[in-house]
Amino acid sequence: MRAAPTILHLDMDAFYASAEQAAKPSLRGKPVVVGGLGPRGVVATASYEARRFGVHSAMPMAQARRLAPNAAYLVPRFALYRSVSDQVMELLGRLSPLVEPLSLDEAFVDLEAGGTADDTASALEIGRQLREAIEAVTGLSGSVGLAGSKMLAKIASEEAKPDGIRVIEPGTERELLAPMPVRTLPGVGPATADHLRRAGMTTVNDLAEAGEAELVRLLGKAHGGSLHRMAFGYDDRPVVSERDAKSVSVEDTFDIDLHDRVRVRTEVERLAGRCVQRLRAAERSGRTVVLKVRRYDFSTLTRSETLRGPTDDPAVVREAAARLLEAVDTTGGVRLLGVGVTGLADFTQEDLFAQAAGERAEAGLADGAEEGAQATEEGQGRADAEPGPESAEQLAARRWPAGHDVRHDTHGHGWVQGSGVGRVTVRFEEPGSEPGRVRTFRIDDPALRPAEPLPLVREPPDYSSWPASLPKSRSGGGAPGAESRP
Ligand SMILES: [Mg+2]
Repeated sequence: MRAAPTILHLDMDAFYASAEQAAKPSLRGKPVVVGGLGPRGVVATASYEARRFGVHSAMPMAQARRLAPNAAYLVPRFALYRSVSDQVMELLGRLSPLVEPLSLDEAFVDLEAGGTADDTASALEIGRQLREAIEAVTGLSGSVGLAGSKMLAKIASEEAKPDGIRVIEPGTERELLAPMPVRTLPGVGPATADHLRRAGMTTVNDLAEAGEAELVRLLGKAHGGSLHRMAFGYDDRPVVSERDAKSVSVEDTFDIDLHDRVRVRTEVERLAGRCVQRLRAAERSGRTVVLKVRRYDFSTLTRSETLRGPTDDPAVVREAAARLLEAVDTTGGVRLLGVGVTGLADFTQEDLFAQAAGERAEAGLADGAEEGAQATEEGQGRADAEPGPESAEQLAARRWPAGHDVRHDTHGHGWVQGSGVGRVTVRFEEPGSEPGRVRTFRIDDPALRPAEPLPLVREPPDYSSWPASLPKSRSGGGAPGAESRP
């Protein structure tokens, strides 16, 4: 815990949906829902207009359609979101070497470690300039929270939403948290909240008053103890940059779900290779290999395998990841794959050679088990054989996902508004254009082709010298209380 609010939490506002609204001028101010559109799909992000109908992330798509039948329903375009995320993370990296990304659109930044802020006034100034920079470069808005700890910085950005900035002055945490629901605290999910409610505790204040012994009795030593500390606003977790992280991982999200098992395996092996490159660049090695798979319906699972000793051998990591994949059902399609290595250690060269040899032997032993797993998988494939040939409608939806980019020889750049019965409807517009017109084509029209997303801002301003012109405003003279302009 520090005396100045120099931990910044940035959270882009309704990120995927806002990116879609920026890219598709006809959707500005309209309800937009991004997510899996299949029968088991869930909402990834809803625009603020859609949230007014009660739609929220993780809700089954069918329920969202009932609540907001007139919203635009779009399949995510991760290539676009990733490129915007890179722009945002680049700006954050200018503020501090300690940037801890939590997802594509969310990160902690330690401003004090970066020398960019050391008190309330300078932190607020940086926060404001960051929001301006993000808007100018990406065309999107992000909310900023500032506090003396990660937990409170995140709460502050939540309170700032949408399109705002909020500071929580160190010393005011206890009072601020007291009336908030227990779910506000990190690590309190629906089950814990339910448990606490049955014990008569619904607010953070209830937790603080219950005392540590009671919380430990209810939730166990680790969870109860940490909850008690957090109820008083106490959180001393540092902002951890990737370089100092306890794990190294890489992941890729695919714009179109992968259905081919061989392709899935190839991607996993490629990711394992990239992961080891990063591991080696950091001069680390690790003991546990982790595979992450997000399926077409956004359900996500992780599987891990712990080796006998740390490794940075690409073959060992690749084989472990492939073994883990064998036990995962990917029928229906895969949207995201990730490979990580945790349990990191610094290694010596001699250890490494010895271990790599040992693990190759171990991997060889596991080959028999692998074949067994493959046989099971094939058996399942037959049992769950496709219910029938793909309908024309399914085929059209797979070929022309709603919301994805297209280019037409005559009409130029547009996006798929809908498809079915051998037809695809396209709206011809692009970032920065006027709302465009709709035209319908046969799904096999040779003049129509899938296209790459266009950048949301055509010529972003140059921020390469930012924030050099904004040193710490120690002498700014503004009392902390005066810093509440939006
Ligand atoms: Mg967000």
